[in-house]
Amino acid sequence: MARRCPCGRGEAYDECCGPVLAGERTAATAEALMRSRYTAFAVGDSAYLLRSWHPRTRPDSIDIDPDTRWRFLEILRTERGGPFDGDGVVEFAAHHRDPDGSHVLREVSRFERVDGAWHYLDGAVG
Ligand SMILES: [Zn+2]
Repeated sequence: MARRCPCGRGEAYDECCGPVLAGERTAATAEALMRSRYTAFAVGDSAYLLRSWHPRTRPDSIDIDPDTRWRFLEILRTERGGPFDGDGVVEFAAHHRDPDGSHVLREVSRFERVDGAWHYLDGAVG
């Protein structure tokens, strides 16, 4: 049976965020990029997180906490970020669990296109 994609769209990983993480296709919208980055956290793909980060704000490295289990993602609001936009905003709640218990990370993230491909610019924790 095909593995469900962690991003919660209800599709198989290999037809959802899998090809985006593998570099076989780009995210069509800012929301799709947000979902792919959540999936990268869930599967521990720090290389993809760096690749999809805007060159202007990209950190040198990312540590993914192996004790954190990413449970599900809620997209709360989107602004622009569509096929004809150059920038976009996605507000989300990422539900996760670590040895201290269950938590919700709520963030308003900004995205920009670089050479046609969506990138994560920065975010404000809400
Ligand atoms: Zn997905």
